[in-house]
Amino acid sequence: MTGAANLRGQLYDFRRRHGRSATSRKMARGIRALGVYSGDVVIAHTSLRKVGKVRGGPEALIKALRKAVGSKGTICMPAHSYGHEDPIFYSGPVPELSDVERMRAAVAPFDPRTSPTTGMGVVAETFRQLPGVRRSPMPLGIAALGPAAEYITATQSLDDPQGLESPVGRIYALGGKALLIGVKLDRDTTLHVAEALANTPWQRRGRVHLTSGWTDYTARLNCGNSFWRIEPVLHERGLITYGRVGRARSMCISVRDSVDLAAQLLMSEPGYFLCTVGTCHACDAARPRAQSGM
Ligand SMILES: [Zn+2]
Repeated sequence: MTGAANLRGQLYDFRRRHGRSATSRKMARGIRALGVYSGDVVIAHTSLRKVGKVRGGPEALIKALRKAVGSKGTICMPAHSYGHEDPIFYSGPVPELSDVERMRAAVAPFDPRTSPTTGMGVVAETFRQLPGVRRSPMPLGIAALGPAAEYITATQSLDDPQGLESPVGRIYALGGKALLIGVKLDRDTTLHVAEALANTPWQRRGRVHLTSGWTDYTARLNCGNSFWRIEPVLHERGLITYGRVGRARSMCISVRDSVDLAAQLLMSEPGYFLCTVGTCHACDAARPRAQSGM
């Protein structure tokens, strides 16, 4: 780490410890300023750490989101839960069969009522446990609260978990907004709907442990690590609003605008969202098909 980066880190920590706390009222004001209105359907991806000191913790940020959309609005958050896949489908070196059996025996079934979210942040993990919150039935799920929650989360297929007939597809159909609080566009799960619209040709096979047993599926590749590529294009076209929620740099985008634009980009360049060569096993496997235009 350079001296300047180190100093910036220290300053950041100092402000986090000693700066003014964000309250749910102040955060709701920041969320409204990003273009979130009463009655909206919003999917929020959050980093509470980036918001800084928050009076009331993750619940206060959830309260702020609910305040911004009001009783007629619906709040959604990602509720992905990893670690339920059959180890035979892990990328990297293939383990010995006896090891696979042992690893498989240790894989807990995914249960939407109890399985914790993985890597979604403390706000999403708190949200999915709140009374009244509904969660879609598959590991790449969405949790939602509000009048549209039942419609959004009711069904989800393993073979097309993020397509048009999925929770994120319904957020797109409802004209929802994606709110990114302290995180970048690589976290915006709604952009996977664009891959379905553009019918990207790569698929992956897998097997997941559900409460009903081990279940095989074939689904579209869902690496979103390079979704950040679309940010300058959205910005150039005036389709992204920037602001702050607490200390967190935040963005708000209409899901229709971003998904339709991403679909256009994918149709003219199928590999638009593939990660750089050699950095991602899944994208490297998909690349030959993108290049052949199949
Ligand atoms: Zn990738």
